[in-house]
Amino acid sequence: MSAIGIDLGTTNSCVAVYRNERIEIIANDQGSRVTPSWVSFTDTERLIGATAKEEASMNHENTLFHIKRLIGRKFNDPSVQHDMKHWSFKVVDVGGQPKIQVTFKEETKLFRPEEISAMILTELKEVAEVYIGTQISDAVITVPAYFNDAQRTATRDAGRIAGLNVLRMINEPTAAAIAYGLEVKIEKKRNVLIFDLGGGTFDVTIVAIENQVFDVKATGGDTHLGGGDFDNRMLEHFIKEFNTKHKVDITKNNRAVSRLKFACEPAKKKLSVSTHATVQVDGLYNGLDFKSNITRAKFEELNADFFDGTISVVENVIADAKMKKDEIDDIVLAGGSTRIPKIRSLLTDFFNGKEISRNINPDEAVAYGAAVLAENIRTGKDKTQERFKLQDVIPFSIGTCVRGTDMCVIIPRNTKIPTKEMSVFSTFSDNQTSARFEVFEGENSKVKDNHLLGSFLLTGISPKPAGEANILSVFGIDGSGVLKVVALDLASGNANDITITNDERRLAEKEIDDMIAAAETMKVGDNTAKEKYNAINKLEELVYKVNQLVESDSATISPREKKGLLAKSKEVFDFAKSNESADIKSIRQKTSELEAYFNKVREYSEYLKSPEGILKILADESKTGYLPATDFS
Ligand code: AMP
Repeated sequence: MSAIGIDLGTTNSCVAVYRNERIEIIANDQGSRVTPSWVSFTDTERLIGATAKEEASMNHENTLFHIKRLIGRKFNDPSVQHDMKHWSFKVVDVGGQPKIQVTFKEETKLFRPEEISAMILTELKEVAEVYIGTQISDAVITVPAYFNDAQRTATRDAGRIAGLNVLRMINEPTAAAIAYGLEVKIEKKRNVLIFDLGGGTFDVTIVAIENQVFDVKATGGDTHLGGGDFDNRMLEHFIKEFNTKHKVDITKNNRAVSRLKFACEPAKKKLSVSTHATVQVDGLYNGLDFKSNITRAKFEELNADFFDGTISVVENVIADAKMKKDEIDDIVLAGGSTRIPKIRSLLTDFFNGKEISRNINPDEAVAYGAAVLAENIRTGKDKTQERFKLQDVIPFSIGTCVRGTDMCVIIPRNTKIPTKEMSVFSTFSDNQTSARFEVFEGENSKVKDNHLLGSFLLTGISPKPAGEANILSVFGIDGSGVLKVVALDLASGNANDITITNDERRLAEKEIDDMIAAAETMKVGDNTAKEKYNAINKLEELVYKVNQLVESDSATISPREKKGLLAKSKEVFDFAKSNESADIKSIRQKTSELEAYFNKVREYSEYLKSPEGILKILADESKTGYLPATDFS
């Protein structure tokens, strides 16, 4: 069975598979190799991908995008609070977790970000299944290098809800490096810097590539920077301009704001190839049209701090890799936002005029690399494995709390995985028999500023004066980034441990099962909606044929039959169109009745075209039943 690679992007997603000795990027049913990461809920159906995006201006409250910015975050996370101001859909606080509220089939529904991401993953899985012709469950999913443990865990859960067996999660720039290394066929060691700037996240990674061994040296970035932010800056600029010009305030009008925002993205893309762009929205607010121009220079000025910030990240990652910038051999771009000329020129200038590599497609490289790894894992120890070796790093330092407040780093960030570190701790007070182990990730010196991954209690410590007990701790991280911590009191031999992916922030099995069941129900709903559309479509085609026959000069149909046919087709059509709750069975049944009637009339019309036909009708009693008595008697 094949295993697929999925790039689950903030703005667009992409799926690839290894087949026929090469990686194939799979086009969706609309023929596109990337699928917008959008989901829309309407009164009658759920839409995913490009059709969902098209709904945005009509149904902005129930059309969801940029959900990757929510995944694995708490409701009160400042980035969630900031993003909510720009979203036209509603995010609510449910026990500290953000949930997305939509109206679907006239009912209010709440979804976790994992569930929405799972819908996109399911769509990609199905696209791949149609292409490959078999069911698929194994997948490698990519995540931004700078995603923390909670964001990775939530992404893995989304995969499970989508019915995928997530073989591994791999960092997006590492996946792009694999694509680059294999496409360019690097033999002698090269230090490659991957600059990955997408719709919502930014990553920089340095990978040393040699003979298909991929050794990640350092990684860094910002999980909250990308094309969406650049759109928002343009949007704010135009809102100000419109408000000032017309002395209004459109910020409270969600529909107007989202219509203007959707017009900004194409203008931004145009500015990558042209020095100016026009944005136009008819009837934007109170019947007032919006029309304005923006130059590339203005766009660059609006985003100068974002653009400059990307270069600071590059500098930090080079320092973390203990390199100098002239040791970077290749600069490789991934992510749609790297098409922005200013980003390219800042990079080239920083590297003293060095050329940027153009060997890989920035939209597809990440899925490509993920598919290579998926195939590598699927085939186990076969020759693919020997040809290809990946050594990744952890993006954040892992440590524990000492002296009640301080972070004691056990595994520093950018350590290669898998890894294992041992450390000896002692007790804080005399005769202490238990100690709580708290595990944190982050770079701050105080644990309160870092991210608590989980905790456990070690009991049965042999009573000793403060500072004399010897407690051995072992922190181990496997190849998928799963962290396990063990603590052992050397005197008593008592031990306890925790595997972080099982901590309480992760969705419980029961919750996942409930979400899988809900996803299945929704899929049935989607299929029903699709079947209903197909049934109505078939009916519309038939009504068209009826009209053609009735209007055709060559058809020999009596006025009575014409009237009868038109009346019947109108009746069936009105029933299907105006009756929202009409079930598929009744639509099909009524369509069949109309079809039978139509076939009879058409057949009869054919017979009437020749004297032989008329004789045949007269001879065949079963056909005389169709004779329109009034016209032929
Ligand atoms: P990705 O997540 O890699 O698919 O990147 C999507 C982001 O790239 C979106 O914010 C797009 O608006 C942006 N993007 C795509 N093409 C261009 C372009 N030609 N110029 C500027 N931004 C672009």
